Amino acid sequence: MNRILIVEDEFSISNFMKTVLEGDGYAAEVATCAAQARAALAKEPFAAMLLDLGLPDADGMELLQELRQRYGLPVIVVSARTEESDKVAALDCGADDYITKPFGSPELLARIRAALRRAGPAAQEPRFTVGELTIDYEKHLVTLAGQPVHLTAGEYRLVELLSRHAGRVLTYDRISEAMWGDAAGGNSQLLRVNMANIRRKLEQNPAEPQYILTEIGVGYRMRDVL
Ligand code: CA
Repeated sequence: MNRILIVEDEFSISNFMKTVLEGDGYAAEVATCAAQARAALAKEPFAAMLLDLGLPDADGMELLQELRQRYGLPVIVVSARTEESDKVAALDCGADDYITKPFGSPELLARIRAALRRAGPAAQEPRFTVGELTIDYEKHLVTLAGQPVHLTAGEYRLVELLSRHAGRVLTYDRISEAMWGDAAGGNSQLLRVNMANIRRKLEQNPAEPQYILTEIGVGYRMRDVL
């Protein structure tokens, strides 16, 4: 059974998360401060951690870096802050994903699933499927409802990258680094153009994409379920 550590000082929220996770078959433990989180992690292994950035006894971002380095487990930041810069900072500090309060149980479970899938034994899946979209990694072939989609080499690499992290947000910097070996600064226009072309080819309505979502000010997220 996957054990999830919830680090959250607000009882109503930690209790909600615990109930949702246990209802879905996870074991969940709650720590209400950084000291309790450190003690719990030292005592037994957890598969993933949900971390509130606003704790009474620690700077959330520093705690995130510390725990991520020491335990290497996937961390999903739970933040009341809607500031985009905080989300980017958390992802740059090693968070695997973030979830913004208030959130519902489907979103929470989807984030946990995606984090655990990534942390699991490097699954060499031969293909990825969501909705009518299929990506065959061996053939470098993308199909939509069985019909081949013609992507440039760069467009294909971008689609493959996002699909291999499906369900999780990738920041513009991470995408740019993986694609062009460089932070996003000089490549943001290139990335936007690539994404516009991809959406034109993949999405029924490119203005309302269903496969690759924009997380405004943060990055892109490919859906893992429709
Ligand atoms: Ca808090």
